[in-house]
Order: sequence, then structure tokens, then C-alpha cells
Amino acid sequence: MSNRIVITIPTVNVPEVEYVFHCLMTEFLGLQYDIVVSDVVCDFSITCNSKSLNITNVFFRDDKLDQLCSVSNIPPHVSLIEVECEETIFPQVTIFGKPNLTIKEEGYIWENDIVAASFYMLTRWEEKVILDRDDHNRFPAKESLAYKYQFLNRPIVNEYVEIIYQILKSFGLDQERKNRQYTTVATHDVDRPYLWSSGLGKAKSMAASLLIRRDKEEIKLRARNISAGTDPFDTFDRLMDMSESIGEKAHFFFMAGGDTEFDNYYQLAEEVVINLIKKIKDRNHLIGIHPSYNTYSDSKMLLSEIDTLKDSIGTEVISSRQHYLRFDVSNTWNILEQSTVKWDSTLCYADAAGFRSGICYSYPVYDLNERKQLALLEKPLIVMDTTLLMYEKLETEQALNRVEKLQNEVNRYKGEFVFLWHNSSFNSQEWLEYGEVYKSMYRQFEDPLN
Ligand SMILES: [Zn+2]
Repeated sequence: MSNRIVITIPTVNVPEVEYVFHCLMTEFLGLQYDIVVSDVVCDFSITCNSKSLNITNVFFRDDKLDQLCSVSNIPPHVSLIEVECEETIFPQVTIFGKPNLTIKEEGYIWENDIVAASFYMLTRWEEKVILDRDDHNRFPAKESLAYKYQFLNRPIVNEYVEIIYQILKSFGLDQERKNRQYTTVATHDVDRPYLWSSGLGKAKSMAASLLIRRDKEEIKLRARNISAGTDPFDTFDRLMDMSESIGEKAHFFFMAGGDTEFDNYYQLAEEVVINLIKKIKDRNHLIGIHPSYNTYSDSKMLLSEIDTLKDSIGTEVISSRQHYLRFDVSNTWNILEQSTVKWDSTLCYADAAGFRSGICYSYPVYDLNERKQLALLEKPLIVMDTTLLMYEKLETEQALNRVEKLQNEVNRYKGEFVFLWHNSSFNSQEWLEYGEVYKSMYRQFEDPLN
């Protein structure tokens, strides 16, 4: 029994600290441990085989959480200094504390308060206290610490997890960590299942291309679609084929209501949509809810849309992604928690790809008001098609590079590469050139064991 892991924590901010260790040790590593709350310690320690990793507690010193999580407590400086541990160099970001990891006879002392940093990233509390928003009332990437200090492209909580695991191994840990493999999670928000609702629609769309855009290539493309009898946005077979080619299922998020100009481009009761849903189900792909523009802070509307979709698909709705990635850290998760939804996949910035919550694994979210862990899981989105083309404005070659780098990061931790490609992002001039970028989303990695 000497191999048991015991984590000792001080008596302040117990719910928050327990939540972080639950994520790091149980969810991410899959290790068993006992937790001891002690009034004689100030720092955190993880003990195994009589050796301890001491983590300096810099942040959690006050049970008044809303005062603790305030703008004045966002540090003015972040260190990107890596750390050497057991003859390996590990990347690390130090948000609270110092980047030092010192070896002692009785174990290690880590002055980087990774408990606070993990809490900062996973709970997204900075989004609650920084009030800047973009035109869609979204927290912009540029306001985040990760963007400002250029670590948005790194899942920094995964980095901490690896260091903890390396140290525990050096203590002689005999528990196996959770077995993971790189997984491609293809997701498709169905904002507009079709471009043309009728022959008249075709004519209007052609006329618009002709008169407003004066784009000959676009007109040729549309003419080709018309003569082939296919709608330019009807790419669902292609999306399903691609997921099947790697042995995965695709996720389609359907809208079921809304009250703004950004919503209601189709109705679930339309024949074309009924047939589409049937086709997706017949091919064993998955359907989730794409809650409309204003639902991120409107529980009545969100819950009613989930009911509407359930009636239409005939099964419980268990997955969700907010339209326009609109998300309010004080509201959206709590609303979903009241529903049948088991996981959300909204957490990616619209204006910059990367690791908004610092992790490439699914994790249970935290309610900052009630100070408790929720049952709802967040499956962080890593990259969206329109982010690369419209916000980051990348050429095809640059976008391919960008995607590959993100995938390498995910692969390093055997995480989930969750991407969003809209069914409408194919048959127009700008998207045609991005065809290679789309394909690259399905890149697979050799399993080192095979
Ligand atoms: Zn959408």
C-alpha cells in the first residue's frame, strides 16, 4: 500500500483545489489518490512511496472566490521558461509563481503554482472579469492571457500533467495512467443545410454573383452545381465519407429555433431537413444541438430548442455547440447542465485557433458561482474553418502549417483533435482553395505501439 498517492492541501479554497486535482489526476491521468485537507500546510503536496512533489501555493489564499478571481489578480507577467525533470526538458508556462523545479532528497519542490494556472485555464474565470467583447458579444482571443503571452497554441494544462506524471514515475508509481490515443473529432454546425430553396433561389443566387460580385469563377461553379442538380451546401455525404474513411463518426449540430437575423435559415420540419437527418442517422453518424444566437444566456430558449430537436430526431440530445461560438462563462454551462446535454464543444475563440482552456482532453466544467464541479463535460474545439480563412486570413499553405502544428500538439498528449468544418465551406471560390486544408483535418498518426 506504500504506493498510494496522497495529496495534501490547505484548508482554503478546498472546492476549487479539489476540482483541479480531480481534473489533473482522475480525469486526465486516471490515477487513484486520497486527499487530505490539513490546517498545518500552506502548499500542496503529492506524496507517493514516501517521496513528495511540493507545489507552492501562490494564489489560493482566500475563500472569497469572487475577490480572488478579479482583474487585479491576473498576473502582469507570464514566464515561458521550460523545465528539466528526470533528464528531460518539458515545456511549461508559469502564470502564478516561479518556473523553478528543484530536486531534493525527499522529492521535488515546484514553485510554479500549477493548481492556480490549471484553474485559470479550465474554468475560464478571466472571461468573467475582463469585460471586453467583440461585435457578437464574445470574449475575444486577444484579451486572453494565452494570446497576449503567446501560449494559445499550447495545451498548457497537458504540459503540467506530463511533468506530474514524470515525477510520480520517478517516485516509483505503480499505477498505470489512462490509456489514450489521438482522436479526430469531426464536427459540422449546420447553419444552412442548403443554399437554394427553390428554382427562384437558384436564379437569385446566380444574379447576385453576376451583378454584385462580378465573379466569373463563382458563376461557373454555380452553373456546374445547377447542371449537376446538386445544392452547393449539400456536402453531407462527403463529410460522412471522410469520417468513415478514418473509422470515426461525424457530429452534426442542428439548429432548432432562434429569434435573430442569424437564425432560422431552415426548419427541422422541412422535407429536405427530415431527409438529411434520416440519412445521417442511417449512416450511424451523430446529431447534436446547435443552440441559436441568443441561447448562450437564455435558458428558456435553449432548453426549448433541445426539446424541439429531440422531437425531430427521436432520441435524447447529448451534445451541443453554441451558434457563433457565443458563450458566457457565468451562464452557458449552467444552462446546459439543466438539460440532457452531456458535453459541449464551444470553447475555441472565433478569432484565433488553439487551446482556449489549455487542454486537449474533455473535462468536467466548474461553476464559479456555486463553487462546484458540474456533470457537464467540455470537449474543447481546437480549430474552426472560418477562423483560419476569415479571422486569421491564412493562405492555403499557411493554414496547412497551422493545422499541422496544432495536430502535433494534440498528438503529443494523445488528445482529441476537435475541428469544425461547415457543410457550406466547400463550393465557393474562397473555399475551393481550402479543400486541402479540409482534408488535412483528418490526418492520422502512426500508433507507436503498432
Ligand atoms: Zn452556427
